[in-house]
Amino acid sequence: MATKKLEQPLSRDEVRTCIRDAKLRATPGRIATYQALAQAASPLTHGEVVARLASFGFDRATVYRNLIDLTDAGLAARSDLGDHVWRFELNDLDDPPGGHAHFVCVDCGGVSCLPGVRVSITAAPGMPRAVSSKQVAVQLKGRCDSCS
Ligand SMILES: [Zn+2]
Ligand SMILES: [Zn+2]
Repeated sequence: MATKKLEQPLSRDEVRTCIRDAKLRATPGRIATYQALAQAASPLTHGEVVARLASFGFDRATVYRNLIDLTDAGLAARSDLGDHVWRFELNDLDDPPGGHAHFVCVDCGGVSCLPGVRVSITAAPGMPRAVSSKQVAVQLKGRCDSCS
């Protein structure tokens, strides 16, 4: 099941329901991890989630396992935006298959979500099967507002 990123932060009870709907046990660690992703403006690395949850006292391995659990259950998505670092974010119902596009700054490495950007692909000879079956991610590169 996919979830929707909301303007208003979800309450603990709403988060618990989302996690249970995805057939996961709503442990305090999963709830906190989900909330950290829900409150983030852009995808977070494992280390960034650990930092945001520092006050809860979860260790790095627990946070990682929870991120993978949320991803495997379809609540979150993870992407490698070219720097071999996994970044995690909640799935959005409005996203096309494969998720929304991302903008990556070539100077500072900052990442922004581009939920409104759509790329249409026309099949062409020699195209890898992954392209026609939409098993690809769309990424735009350039300089972010603070670097340009
Ligand atoms: Zn930048
Ligand atoms: Zn995103």
